[in-house]
Amino acid sequence: TEYNRATEKLFKVIIIGDPGVGKTSFIRRYVQNAFRGDYKATIGVDFALKIVRWSENQTIKLQLWDIAGQERFTWMTRVYYKEAQGCIIMFDLTSRNSFKNAVKWKKDVDSKCFLEDGAPVPCMLLANKCDLQQREVDQWEIETLCREHGFIGWTETSAKDDLMVGDCMRFLIEIMMKYN
Ligand code: GDP
Ligand code: MG
Repeated sequence: TEYNRATEKLFKVIIIGDPGVGKTSFIRRYVQNAFRGDYKATIGVDFALKIVRWSENQTIKLQLWDIAGQERFTWMTRVYYKEAQGCIIMFDLTSRNSFKNAVKWKKDVDSKCFLEDGAPVPCMLLANKCDLQQREVDQWEIETLCREHGFIGWTETSAKDDLMVGDCMRFLIEIMMKYN
């Protein structure tokens, strides 16, 4: 009988953005399919591992780095970003400030971290908390920022209602598979 050796890939993905935008909630939803309303700030960095059965003979391990957005930790980001193959920059649709800061986070990543061939790390922009009504950011503004700052794409998400969480991660994995 034929023996098919399963292949396994490991990707490091960093998740960044201002405090409170929903990074930890997003990861918890993606990895554990759970959500909590109470807010406990991440200190430093948390790790989560998600194993994805990509195809019959391809397994993907995602090492998710949940990085605290506090100003006092930003000097550490170079260490956290090291050898990341994918990046998620998240903002909160109900916080205009967190949207503006998405550009700062993108510049921070692009100045400190590159793929092996020197290309920028593929970065996806996530507009979280789309379940809430009181939006402070329009779609066309997101579209423009996404294009002008070299994101691979963007989507609205809700960690609370589980909207687009798995879908956007699949999109990122597809791109990381092409690059690696
Ligand atoms: P982090 O600091 O970026 O890790 O943000 P957290 O994941 O700790 O979330 C901050 C707060 O926003 C918490 O109270 C969450 O329950 C809430 N939150 C996170 N994601 C969503 C979402 O998609 N919708 C709503 N309504 N609240 C969310
Ligand atoms: Mg957190």
